[in-house]
Amino acid sequence: CGVIGIYGPGKDVARLTYFGLHALQHRGQESAGIAIGNGEDIQFNKGMGLVTEAFNEHKLREMAGQVAIGHVRYSTTGSSLLANAQPLVFRYLKGMMAVAHNGNLTNATEQRHNLAVTGAVFQTTTDTEVIVNLLARYNQSSIEEGLMKTMIDIKGSYSMLVMTEDRLLGVRDPHGVRPLCIGRLGDAYIFASESCALDTLGAEFVRDVEPGEIVVADKRGLTSIKSMIRAPRAMCIFEYIYFARPDSNIDGISVNRARRAMGRQLARECPIDADVVISVPDSGTAAAIGYATESGIPFEEGLMKNRYIGRTFIQPSQEMRSQAVRLKLNPIVKAVEGKRVILIDDSIVRGTTSGKIVQLLRQAGAKEVHMLISSPPITHPCYYGIDTSVRKELIAATKTIEEIRQAIGADSLYYLSEEGLLNTMVDQRADLPAESYCTACFSGNYPIDVPQGVDKFTME
Ligand code: 5GP
Ligand code: SF4
Ligand code: MG
Repeated sequence: CGVIGIYGPGKDVARLTYFGLHALQHRGQESAGIAIGNGEDIQFNKGMGLVTEAFNEHKLREMAGQVAIGHVRYSTTGSSLLANAQPLVFRYLKGMMAVAHNGNLTNATEQRHNLAVTGAVFQTTTDTEVIVNLLARYNQSSIEEGLMKTMIDIKGSYSMLVMTEDRLLGVRDPHGVRPLCIGRLGDAYIFASESCALDTLGAEFVRDVEPGEIVVADKRGLTSIKSMIRAPRAMCIFEYIYFARPDSNIDGISVNRARRAMGRQLARECPIDADVVISVPDSGTAAAIGYATESGIPFEEGLMKNRYIGRTFIQPSQEMRSQAVRLKLNPIVKAVEGKRVILIDDSIVRGTTSGKIVQLLRQAGAKEVHMLISSPPITHPCYYGIDTSVRKELIAATKTIEEIRQAIGADSLYYLSEEGLLNTMVDQRADLPAESYCTACFSGNYPIDVPQGVDKFTME
């Protein structure tokens, strides 16, 4: 998911939030929502699909206020329903509050059960509603204190925005799994999942929210509160490999530079005698350019991507399903015909897309197709907010690399080594050692205890 919040009296905060959400669209395409506080109450608007589908000029004009938060959703827990769209807006003892959350709680089942025993009711199947109920229960304290108490109860990943009628709070979980940064636009303050949203608004980057930190933006300016919880840093390495936009900087590291460095490392680990380097756009492109730079083999655009097909795209009929990849990607014949091709992508999850792409390139006349992946094989599910949570669907969980190569039909297949990847990250920022990153989906080392059993509230 992607979140953005703006504290900006006198500014058109709804419109700024709307533009910011566009820059975060890659983080979620299922639903979009904006909540806005005008000092007295909170209004909100949500819709299914892309930001452009969920909002229009009319809806935006209706929303006036001084503080706003927005959310784009990518569902990890809870199905794709409007009821599950965020921000969640609620009334409690002291007024109104809105919450927008990126991440995934690992003890949501347990916490939801504890709350339900005392009579709490739930309208959604999201773990965010657990947070909302906890915040509402700690109503005897200030909202900052309530948030600190909530942080003791919840486990997992969360980069979260909380808004009252006139204040904005940003919080990042003690491990710092998901990104969150702070920007400034004149006298307005902005919190966003990624710095590319600040750039879009013409805002200046101030800094990243620290793991375990609560930052408040209100009429007194910015205030920072450090939570008592101490935990090892565990930034999701997949944000750098695949999820984040390359024009973002996360925790002081340029995503684009990190991806190019992964591609260069790939070239050092796996040199291949070939004629051209191409990528699976867009997520594989930076690594492919890195590979080309290091190897001296020219990079070319070998596949064109249709940018207008979102996740909400109508599922093709059964007979067209095998062509689904073609709707999104088409080979550029002149770039690959008669050539030995190095094809670079960021990751293989189920292997279905990769297999179709190799086939398309062969049909376009490629003489050889060598598939290189700028991350190690994904063998374990993610419980912290990226949707690879079904182990049996992960091709590398059950097949060897040679079996995967055969399944996708490539002449050769190579995955970046874990050591090479981590060295690349340490090269980007030497004061963050390799242990600062979550690598669980390929190492199996989970930095936060994973949920036990099945959550009966979120099973659908
Ligand atoms: P596959 O060959 O496994 O079907 O598809 C791999 C492609 O899916 C890669 O290009 C990758 O960028 C993309 N992808 C889409 N969603 C995800 C996701 O949630 N996690 C990862 N790691 N890759 C994803
Ligand atoms: Fe990121 Fe993988 Fe860790 Fe999930 S398990 S947070 S995708 S590194
Ligand atoms: Mg991709």
